[in-house]
Amino acid sequence: MERRAKIVATVGPASSDEVVLARLLRAGADVLRLNMSHGDHPGHRRTIETIRRVSAELGKHVPVLLDLMGPRFRLGALAEPRLLRRGERVTLGADPGEVDLPVDDPGFLRHLQQGERVLIADGLVALQVLAKSARRVTARVVDGGSVSTRKGINLPDSSIPFTISAKDRADLAFAVAERADYLAGSYIGRARDVEALRAAVRALGDDIPLVAKLERAVAVEHIDEIVASADAVMVARGDLGVEVPLHQVPVLQKRIIAAGRRAGKPVIVATQMLESMIAQPRPTRAETSDVANAVFDGADALMLSGETAAGRFPVEAVRTMARIVVEAESYRLKQLADGARPSEPAPAADELAASSRRDPEALAAGGAIEIADVVADAAVHAASKLDGSLIVAFSQGGFTARRLARYRPVVPTLVFTTDERVARRIQLLWGTRPIRLEREVQHRDDLIEVVERELLIRRLIRPGECIILLMGYPIQDRPLTNLLRIHRVAERSGRRA
Ligand code: PEP
Repeated sequence: MERRAKIVATVGPASSDEVVLARLLRAGADVLRLNMSHGDHPGHRRTIETIRRVSAELGKHVPVLLDLMGPRFRLGALAEPRLLRRGERVTLGADPGEVDLPVDDPGFLRHLQQGERVLIADGLVALQVLAKSARRVTARVVDGGSVSTRKGINLPDSSIPFTISAKDRADLAFAVAERADYLAGSYIGRARDVEALRAAVRALGDDIPLVAKLERAVAVEHIDEIVASADAVMVARGDLGVEVPLHQVPVLQKRIIAAGRRAGKPVIVATQMLESMIAQPRPTRAETSDVANAVFDGADALMLSGETAAGRFPVEAVRTMARIVVEAESYRLKQLADGARPSEPAPAADELAASSRRDPEALAAGGAIEIADVVADAAVHAASKLDGSLIVAFSQGGFTARRLARYRPVVPTLVFTTDERVARRIQLLWGTRPIRLEREVQHRDDLIEVVERELLIRRLIRPGECIILLMGYPIQDRPLTNLLRIHRVAERSGRRA
């Protein structure tokens, strides 16, 4: 069975070599992520060049997701690791000569209030603020442990305004220059933070789709507005599990996926999915279940971080994840065929319409969203009735592809486009594969021929099977999807039914 949920693999020292990259893609990686918290621009540029070269050689359209570091707070340089004991008083500030714990970029300290928590090193060490002066913050150690240079700091109780750091601005310019396909924004708290990033990208003359990472306590209170303003969201369980009590993460995962499904926005579930595979060739039983459960929750994509970026078994991690996903999906499909109700929420019409209002392709088409939606819904319905069919859509900017993925078609969905960047972006969408056409097709009847020929050559369809075709017609006017055609491939090649 063809896999529907997509795999996002993070590229790092363990996988940036072209041989490993090719193996990652063959094993099933659909989207490649670069984490801007690590590495430098020349290194990332080389990696992107390698990704583009290797994917062209393999005939794949592979999107590059550039993950911004965001306004991350860190300790400064400590002469040596320091053991903090419960009950001890410590000071935080800018000047290493004046305080116990210097911080990297001290601006955030002025936002701290008495009683708020300061979490260090993935939340292993917890402090509580006692007092604040112009030059330092005094805190008591609540959970003790060892801290060292540049350990991350989380402030789950504090209202720290989102800012685009100088590093993020430089990374945004890099993303535009390198034609990144998706950008992930870290530490998003509100919809306005997504809009701030979007404005910064637009000011650079591009419109790269934004993935909002949900990882702050404040973001949890604003899930729906963030989902509405972003192009996709990520359940960033690493930081989320520090900012909110860990036992809440599984329920939040379900809530975020449900919010994404309602609004028809792709949701990526990330972090520690196959963590033990960083060091071992086989995952734990619990990790295997975690991957399958993300599929059952309705995730569009699952992400590997350290497993592929820095682990010993990057290719095995992708292969293992792909197998678990296929097994879980075939079980769900069988259950649905046996009459079970879908466990995941379906898209809500009003939320879909609202989220379309800022879709560039939809706006350019001047509305007609309802018709496009009805056609997409009808295509998915037709596919469930016609055995051995597949859905084929023509999409100039990816709008029709995103519409279709929302309805979770049971049959494979192929999207033809002439734009290479659109083809790459489509790869993130659940159950959807892009096919790039070299030339635009001008006439509706030629289209059927072109599609049938491409699908027969690629052995994606056999004589007697049905193509459920969606397109905007007349083609040259580029309207939104308004035409559905069902075409049965003739038993003898060259003849049409
Ligand atoms: C996370 O926190 O889960 C995450 C994906 O972000 P990062 O890897 O940038 O910490």
